[in-house]
Amino acid sequence: MKTKSGGRENSEDLRAIFHAKRLKCTPQRLAVLKVLKESGAYLSINMLDKKVKEMLPGTGLATVYRALETLEELGLVAKVHLEDGCHSYAVAPEGHMHPIVCTECNKVIDFAECPLGELSEKLTQDTGIVIQNHFLQLFGKCRECQA
Ligand SMILES: [Zn+2]
Ligand SMILES: [Zn+2]
Repeated sequence: MKTKSGGRENSEDLRAIFHAKRLKCTPQRLAVLKVLKESGAYLSINMLDKKVKEMLPGTGLATVYRALETLEELGLVAKVHLEDGCHSYAVAPEGHMHPIVCTECNKVIDFAECPLGELSEKLTQDTGIVIQNHFLQLFGKCRECQA
């Protein structure tokens, strides 16, 4: 298993990440991140909204949404797509990685290193298209759920 959030545990580091992008490190944004870190699993927007409200009563759903968008932009949160077409959110690992999600227990089991760099370059060479982004997510069964 790889460590998922090495080096970004303390709030000074977080503040630096926000400030580098000229974004405010608001209590709501920090609360969303904290809830995700503590859960260790992916959470739906409704679960997140409920837990953030427990920490910061009066926080609206729209604020939670915006906080998630900002955190995603900063690379701190990853959107996780589910088989039923919905999506949830998890703490992003450092660097560019792809989530592996357990289909039984709803956990982000691990993150896989990106295998698509070379493919993107080859496609650009072959087609002239500059690949700007891609989406890859893996589904599986974690060890506990295999037992
Ligand atoms: Zn599992
Ligand atoms: Zn990738």
